[in-house]
Amino acid sequence: MMKEYIEDAEKALLHTYNRYQVVLDKGDGVYLYDIEGKKYLDFCAGIAVFALGYNNKAYNDALKEQIDKLIHTSNYYYNVPAIEAAKKMKKVSGMDRVFFTNSGAEAIEGAIKAARKYAYLKDGRTDHEIIAMNHSFHGRTMGALSVTGNPKYREAFEPMIGNIRFAEMNDLESVKANITHKTCAILFETVQGEGGIYPATEEFLKGVKAICEEKDILLIMDEIQCGMGRTGYMYAWQKYGVKPDIMTTAKALGCGVPVGAFLMTEKVGQHSLTSGDHGTTYGGNPLAAAAVNKVLDLFEENHIIENVTKISGYLEEKLDELVEEYDCIETRRGVGLMQGLVFNRPVGEIIIKALDKGLILINAGTNIIRFVPPLIIEKSHVDAMIGILRECLSE
Ligand SMILES: *Cc1c(COP(=O)(O)O)cnc(C)c1O
Repeated sequence: MMKEYIEDAEKALLHTYNRYQVVLDKGDGVYLYDIEGKKYLDFCAGIAVFALGYNNKAYNDALKEQIDKLIHTSNYYYNVPAIEAAKKMKKVSGMDRVFFTNSGAEAIEGAIKAARKYAYLKDGRTDHEIIAMNHSFHGRTMGALSVTGNPKYREAFEPMIGNIRFAEMNDLESVKANITHKTCAILFETVQGEGGIYPATEEFLKGVKAICEEKDILLIMDEIQCGMGRTGYMYAWQKYGVKPDIMTTAKALGCGVPVGAFLMTEKVGQHSLTSGDHGTTYGGNPLAAAAVNKVLDLFEENHIIENVTKISGYLEEKLDELVEEYDCIETRRGVGLMQGLVFNRPVGEIIIKALDKGLILINAGTNIIRFVPPLIIEKSHVDAMIGILRECLSE
């Protein structure tokens, strides 16, 4: 049955993914089930999306209630869920202004536009530069791709948007070397995700912030993957107290309903995008906003961040044991429930083996297994995951 669906899929869908040979059907908590009823322990969470776990009743009910009321209005009008969601997002982020998008890439697009407009209003120039990082990932649209520090993703789609320079993450000197009088923004993921789970160091964050303040350059942090509690803080930068001028969020923000946002300080809000400068038909529609509202409520009610803090030490400890035990594993990197095991060889085969044994894992680059589970996991799930992974490694 599964085989037939996969054959149909490969005839109908554009082949832009080498998908795992599984057709998923339903989920419950930290488990997924395929259409043949096989159960999987999920340490991917739809790529750091389903923070609250699958089939969360309170979340599902909130969405159903909103569906019966109003799904969409356009941004020509106000709607209550979006107003409430924006207020809550201001509170948890400490930022001042919110623009809802439909994806992470779109949040990056908006952040780039806001930064360019801010600089334009200052000096009227139209040749501003943005510094992004090597090994970064910011999405697949042309603007987001232009700041993605992986030439492999960009090459066939050149030319990119202009005036992007790439520096080395956690290397302040390389950032300084790229600064010119045209620099309007410095952009990076607080913890690099796709590029291999590289957390920004405190020294780097503070150093970049100081440069930005001195030269009135905007600091943009991409919290799309590392945000929403995954690091033990609502947003990863809060751990270091280095606040960005613009921040992007998505993935776990709607826990499966497609929604993202870019947020900014009042200073940027008052001196950048204004009426007519930016828009989206769907962004922040009542259904998406209802999801954000419920997600933020449940984060609080279910003490999600406390659970991340509680469980992540245990996950680190268990992963570190594997690093000690297996010669093929070089090291572990990460923060909270965003961890990577770095191998000295490609990990594709291990991931397929794990899938076969009922464990969903993903990679980040060819040599790294990435662990971005639902934020509700418990010790027993970590033990089960480690058990299966150990079997795969020993074979
Ligand atoms: C996933 C991701 C994006 C892109 O988000 P989409 O919703 O896939 O467009 C951007 N930045 C980071 C850090 C991401 O992990």
